[in-house]
Amino acid sequence: MGKIKKITAREIINSNGEPTIETKIELDSGLTAKASVPSGTSVGSYEAFDMRDFDKKRFFGRGRLRALEKVNEIIGPALVGREVTAQEMIDKKMIELDGRADKSNLGSNSILSVSLAVARAAALEQKEELYLYLQKKYNFEKISLPIPIFNFFNGGKHADTNLDFQEFLYIPKKKKVAEMIRQGAEVYQSLKQELKMADYDTDVGIEGGFAPELNSSIEALELISAASLRAGYEPKLDYYLGIDVGSEMLYDEKTGKYVFVLDNSYLVSETLISLYENWLEKYPLLYLEDGIAENDWPSWQKLTEQLGEKLLIVGDDLFATNIERLRLGLQKKVANSIIIKPNQVGTLTETIECIKLAQSHNYKIIISHRSQETNDDFIVDLAVAVGADYLKAGSLSRGERVAKYNRLLEIGQIID
Ligand code: PGA
Ligand code: ZN
Repeated sequence: MGKIKKITAREIINSNGEPTIETKIELDSGLTAKASVPSGTSVGSYEAFDMRDFDKKRFFGRGRLRALEKVNEIIGPALVGREVTAQEMIDKKMIELDGRADKSNLGSNSILSVSLAVARAAALEQKEELYLYLQKKYNFEKISLPIPIFNFFNGGKHADTNLDFQEFLYIPKKKKVAEMIRQGAEVYQSLKQELKMADYDTDVGIEGGFAPELNSSIEALELISAASLRAGYEPKLDYYLGIDVGSEMLYDEKTGKYVFVLDNSYLVSETLISLYENWLEKYPLLYLEDGIAENDWPSWQKLTEQLGEKLLIVGDDLFATNIERLRLGLQKKVANSIIIKPNQVGTLTETIECIKLAQSHNYKIIISHRSQETNDDFIVDLAVAVGADYLKAGSLSRGERVAKYNRLLEIGQIID
């Protein structure tokens, strides 16, 4: 019982209208489980390799036939007959089969789809909710519900807007999950009204946040603040704000400056850090993700020294859910929080190892979606299992985003 009988992968379409991979595992007990994997748009250079096809005649070269071939013909046959609960052994075997640090032989997408489907099948086999199965299996202290981080404005590479900053985030104060999600949904509606009143576009970007053309970057913060107040939620008492700068995409290596076209400003890292400090005085800012480009350790140190007491200094591209990058960061004393995206590294086991190391150094854990998602809600159970502090899953619109919040609501109904 509980042995892997068959593994098959297929192409499905993701939220960006492009193919991704979904893998199905069948056990000899007859149970089946599936998992699909997301992709990034602003991809950090330390991420594992997301395998696509070279065939320009299919999906403009973005097909996934190569990736699913790796599952169907290499990974699947190598795992048949294995006990499904042997997650570490299974992940280790896939890492060995690949043999490259960036998983470019088999693709992190091929490997992760199997890794997550294995965990799901094992939880089913044990007749356990996924979050409970994961918590017990990996000895996390206790399950807990993360605070959702809502993305209300999409900029940068995530939308056709003039916003240079990638994400403007709304973070409710901790309370019951259903109340936090209700607050987010009310402010989302209220923000839509604010935008309409200002004659702004209310179309949404790739993660479901609004994507109008604004007059300045801080206008985004002003609009969210006004929308929140109008919905009856006060700064600091009821909510905080956050920004994912996505700074890697704004950094011009030639000049050493960050380019903010909308604000007509071209800033060296020190001036950029002063700008953050200035905003921190004016707005209820709690959270700053990728405030500095991924290779500029000295500026990351400066940012952490200067603002680390007052802000969550979050590394996304900086760490790429990669334990070696995190070790470097710990050595250099940068950041105090980490974004965790399983597809940045490619297996559940490595994801868990990275979380454990971060937790042992008291880093806040933010489990995150990607900009090109599927309806798979694995990350929500993962967040609950590891006792993550936050779950970042986009706005309160677009099915692939609300799929995550609806799973969080479902778990909340059981344990909140
Ligand atoms: P990505 O965006 O999935 O395009 O990387 C999400 C993020 O940067 O947090
Ligand atoms: Zn990010």
